[in-house]
Parts: sequence; structure tokens; C-alpha cells
Amino acid sequence: MSEQYDVIVIGAGPAGYPAAIRAGQNKLKVACIDGWKNYDGSYAFGGTCLNAGCIPSKALLESSELYHRAQHEFELHGIKLKGVEFDVAAMQSRKSKIVKSSTQGIAALLKGAGVNALVGHGKLLKAEGGVNKVEYTDKEGKVQVLSATHVVLASGSVPTELKSLPFDGKDIIDSWGALELSAVPKRLGVIGAGVIGLELGSVWNRLGAQVTVLEALDSFLPMADQAVSAEALKNFKKQGLDVKLGAKVSAATKGKDGVTLKYTDASGEQSLVVDKVVVAIGRRPFTTNLLAEGSGVELDERGFVKVDHECRTGMANVWAVGDLVRGPMLAHKGKEEGVVVADLIAGKHAEVNYNIIPSVIYTAPEIAWVGQTEQQVKQSGRAYKVGSFPFMASGRARAMEAAVGFCKMISAVDTDEVLGVHIIGPMAGELIGEAVLAMEYSASTEDFQRTIHAHPTLSEAVHEAALAADKIAIDFPNR
Ligand code: FAD
Ligand code: NAD
Repeated sequence: MSEQYDVIVIGAGPAGYPAAIRAGQNKLKVACIDGWKNYDGSYAFGGTCLNAGCIPSKALLESSELYHRAQHEFELHGIKLKGVEFDVAAMQSRKSKIVKSSTQGIAALLKGAGVNALVGHGKLLKAEGGVNKVEYTDKEGKVQVLSATHVVLASGSVPTELKSLPFDGKDIIDSWGALELSAVPKRLGVIGAGVIGLELGSVWNRLGAQVTVLEALDSFLPMADQAVSAEALKNFKKQGLDVKLGAKVSAATKGKDGVTLKYTDASGEQSLVVDKVVVAIGRRPFTTNLLAEGSGVELDERGFVKVDHECRTGMANVWAVGDLVRGPMLAHKGKEEGVVVADLIAGKHAEVNYNIIPSVIYTAPEIAWVGQTEQQVKQSGRAYKVGSFPFMASGRARAMEAAVGFCKMISAVDTDEVLGVHIIGPMAGELIGEAVLAMEYSASTEDFQRTIHAHPTLSEAVHEAALAADKIAIDFPNR
């Protein structure tokens, strides 16, 4: 008889491993299968996020930002440095250490929760007699069929390739390749001015690459509030990121001089010669060899596993979470889905509030928001009020030499409920947490107004934006 589990999770990224841990905490018998293989041939848990996404990108963003500040900001503080240099190999090795300790941490957490962590490949088979079956191939190639009452699919996503610029792992690379560069390219082309394009473009720009970002759309960061996108574009241009909007790439040719990109924009045919190209035009759900014929799990027209609002696929006791299913491709969205599914399996009440998922872009200035943009609220027809507070008027931001950007709060006129908070400025990703918690509990603008915020902190900008929504701001003239 095959080994029988209560729950088998396929994928140990930020959606899969929390599902497995919570299922273990719920006293279920759990296995979690993951086959992530690094460039050096080692296997690791943690998925894209820990190995090739959130964590390594933030490590390099931090190092490159420190270098940039040492060069451009320290003097303003009266600190004189001579001959500031950087060492890409040392930056990369610091990043690798952080990644390694994080992924080893996941293995330890799984073990601690009593989860049988299996290295290798998992594939959902056709259920037999109401029992779900998973084919597990270990790293030596040995195949076993495991049985489970519940299966959670969490196989994540992979970068989307551009037909005209297939990845070659050397000159035309994906985001993982861009995180592994061993030297700063002189000229870096980035296709896509999305989150990855801006974060990784910033890293290499700060280290001296001449970065050109080609974005197919005419608008910049259309998912963000328009005031935030405009402020962001202004700042990125000032930093030297050459963002070209409405640029449609048609071909790439490799030659002695580098890669020549052909594209068209409003002015017609253009070409750009670069040393390396990062293609960051989005990611697609990864379902290769995940579902055996007869498994019954359906995909939608874009290749995502079809699920309902509770992450149930159409098959009994088969669930799917994270980047594999609809919704924003964010680690924290996947984590919440994984935990909620494990609680639902255990018969507990749980749900994901898809309306209150924060977004953060870790550029400088940082960008963060939760809830609706002003454009979305306007389109809904609901009467609204807006309060905005610039970091220029924040004593703490000025003391930090980071008085850039603003916090904007949008609230309903009828109920005073806060509908959206949008921040561009220092530590925006940390500041948004207050708004997320408050909005989770349907806070009003007055709730923010009557909450004491420590002085001097950046969080006073959130407080003042709430006051400004009713034209009672203290630290900035009301308009
Ligand atoms: P993944 O993390 O992709 O994990 C899926 C796992 O399943 C992988 O380990 C894979 O090897 C394994 N797997 C797949 N198929 C099988 C199979 N058949 N058998 C066994 N194992 C299998 N999000 C944020 O929220 N914040 C950020 O700052 C952020 N930064 C990012 C930066 C970059 C450069 C990138 C690329 C992404 C970033 N993301 C960020 C997005 C985030 O990484 C993803 O949303 C998140 O990793 C999705 O989690 P997941 O568990 O669904 O999938
Ligand atoms: P994205 O969807 O954020 O941006 C892709 C960009 O490429 C878009 O602006 C799109 O218009 C553009 N584009 C698409 N096709 C193009 C083409 N042919 N030519 C030029 N431009 C084109 O995708 P991404 O930046 O690749 O990131 C993938 C996912 O990873 C995102 O969903 C994101 O949420 C996640 N991620 C999150 C973070 C974070 O939370 N800080 C960081 C990195 C990645």
C-alpha cells in the first residue's frame, strides 16, 4: 500500500511551505514536495521568493542603495569618504549567504512542524476510489505513488519569455539571471517597466550601469495611483533610469558590440545597443508535468489553475494557492492562501480578504499601497475625499535626508471609511502596515486622526494625510 497522508503539498515556496506548516500545526500528517534546483546543483526549499526573488533582490537593493548613499548622501551629513568602491563578488556572496540561511530555515521550520519534506518532483494523478494520488520522483529518479486525503498545488510561476528575445542565459536573461550577474554591465536593457524591471534596473543603475527600460504601454505603473506613478517616474528619471514608454520590441540581434534591440515607439523605428538584456514582462503559472491526464484539474485561458474564492479546484479535496492561481503574484498573498487552505482543511473558519492585499515596490523612493486608487474610486462613482501629506514637511524625513514623496489617503464621504492609502517615500513598505491593519478592520479616517503617532516618525505622514482629508492637517497648509 502507498504511504497515506492527510495533506500533500506540491511546492515549498511562500504559498506551499506555510500551507504545510499550518497543516502540521493542525496535527495533520503532511508531506511537502519541492524540486527547486539552484545554479550550483543544490536543492533548496523556499521557491522563487527565497532563492531567486524577494530575498536576493532585496539583499542587492540594500547593498546598491548603501553604495549610492555613500557616494551621494554622506557628504550632506558631513561625512567625507574618499575612494568609495564596491565589490560585486562580495555583494553576491553576502546575498548568497542570506539566501542559504533563509532556505535552510524553511527546511528546519517544516521539520519542526512535523512535515515530511521531500526533495523531488510531485505530480497529481487521477484520484482512485475517492483518494487523491501523487506521484513522487525523488532526486535519484526513484518513483513512488503517495496517497492523500487532500492535495495542495503550489507550484508557483516562471518568467514569461518574449518570442523575439528568447532567454540564452548569457546576454538575454530573466530576473534570476539579473540577480546573479558577476559584473556590472556597461549598458543594460530592461524589457518591462514593471516591479522587477524597476527594482533590478535600480540595482544595476546604482552600481553604474547605463539602464534603459523599454515599456510597451504608454502609461507608467498603471496599477498604482496616478499621482504616485507620476512622482515615481520623475524620481527614477532623475536617478538616471531611462524609461521609454510605448516601446514595442520586435527583434534582437547579437553581435560583437552587444545586443541590438529593435523597437518601435511613437517616433517610429528605433534601435538600442546594450551589453545585456533583462526580460521582465511578467510571469506565468508553472504547470509543466504537474497534472497527469485524468487528474481533472482545469486551467483557465491564461494557464492558471481554476479555483474558487477558497482556493478549491473543481476536484474533491484538491486545492491550489499562490502564483499558480488568479490574483496578484505576491509572496504574502500566496502565504495567506496557503494558511487559509490548511485551516479550511482542518475544519476551521478562514478566509482571504482579497481587497486588502498590500503592494510594495522596493525602489528608492519606496512605493506602497493598499486598497483602491483614486482613479478606481472615481470610476466607482462613490463620493470621496483625499488627504495628502508630503514627506518634505516631515521632520523625521528631513533629518533622514529622505524628504521625497508623499502619503495619500482616499476615504468615502458617506461613511468616512478609508478606501485606499498610497505612499511613495522613505520606508513606504513598512508604513503601509498601519493602513493594512486599519483597513482590515474597516477603519475610518477619524480612527487614523484620533490615533496618536509618535513624534518624530515617518508614520506621522499617514496621520497628517488622514487629517488633510478633512482639511484639518496641522503640519502642512490645508488645500
Ligand atoms: P514559487 O515561489 O514559485 O514556488 C513554487 C515552488 O514549487 C518552487 O520551489 C518550485 O521549484 C516548486 N515546484 C514547481 N513544480 C513542482 C513540482 N511539480 N514538484 C515539486 N516542486 C515543484 N513578491 C513579493 O511579495 N515581494 C517581493 O519583494 C517580491 N520580489 C520578487 C522579486 C523577483 C525578482 C521575483 C522573480 C519575484 C518576486 N516576488 C515578490 C514574487 C514572489 O516571488 C512570488 O509571488 C512567490 O514566490 C510565489 O510563491 P509560490 O509559492 O506561489 O511559488
Ligand atoms: P509586471 O507585471 O510587474 O511588469 C511587467 C511589465 O512589462 C508591465 O509594465 C508590462 O506592460 C510590460 N510588458 C509586457 N510585455 C511587454 C513587451 N513585450 N515589451 C515591453 N514591455 C512589456 O511583471 P514583472 O515585473 O515581470 O514581475 C512579475 C511578478 O513578480 C509581478 O506580478 C510582481 O507582482 C512580482 N514581483 C513583485 C515584487 C514586489 O512585490 N516588490 C517584486 C518583483 C516581482
